[in-house]
Amino acid sequence: MSDEQVIVTGASSGIGEAIAIELDRRGFKVVGLSRRGSCPVGVGMACDMTDEASISASIAKIAGRGPIVGLVNNAGAHEATPSAELSLAEFEKCMRLNASAVLVACREVYPHLKKSGDTLIVNIGSFFDKLAVSENVAYCASKAAVGAITRCLATEWASDGIRVLDVAPGYIETELNRDFLAKPKIKAWLERRVPVKRAGAASEVARLVGALYSEKIGFLTGETIYIDGGQGANH
Ligand code: NDP
Repeated sequence: MSDEQVIVTGASSGIGEAIAIELDRRGFKVVGLSRRGSCPVGVGMACDMTDEASISASIAKIAGRGPIVGLVNNAGAHEATPSAELSLAEFEKCMRLNASAVLVACREVYPHLKKSGDTLIVNIGSFFDKLAVSENVAYCASKAAVGAITRCLATEWASDGIRVLDVAPGYIETELNRDFLAKPKIKAWLERRVPVKRAGAASEVARLVGALYSEKIGFLTGETIYIDGGQGANH
């Protein structure tokens, strides 16, 4: 194992947990940030990603332990509310975690990634960034913002040796939605809508993210890479 640290936010469950395990398997030193502070591998630290000062303090602490070569902004939350009833506070709460926290974490890690050179930020977006989804205006807007943040930072920081990518999953089965996705009506709907006829596995998203870190493809930056079984492209 090298001393190269990759920070994974939201590593305490679901997709983030799978990404942490995959990066560890590939020899990176993983530091997981979440409110619970647990991480299946490496080191876990408690950090509320909606708290700017906590993000700043956590990243400074991690930088004190060794070089940082990556940041995976995975922490996020989803809530559905009819748009006509959505309060400004609810909209801003969603934007705060799913989009603003991404920007703050990128900004705080920037000097450390620049120092390491040839580094990568992966932001976890969603294929909802380009879809119209009823009762999901806040989530869709927040994930569209992740795509925009990714493009802007990639352009601005390319000359610093920092690449920035958005990995945007479709429906992924995790502990939280396993029972929901197994309902016959939902299963039938997925089989109709998703060309590969199933939800994805967290390990599939993790393998994509892990490959991006291992392969170090220098010409690939600023892009949103969809991993959705073809659903977003399906008529
Ligand atoms: P989970 O709910 O399983 O995991 C969310 C993670 O984010 C947890 O580790 C949680 O840790 C962390 N988190 C939540 N709030 C905060 C906070 N304020 N500060 C720090 N960490 C926080 O979700 P998924 O694994 O399903 O989702 C992960 C990402 O993937 C999200 O960005 C989501 O939008 C995206 N995504 C998921 C899809 C899916 O179908 N599952 C589809 C497309 C995108 P803790 O509670 O310990 O703080």
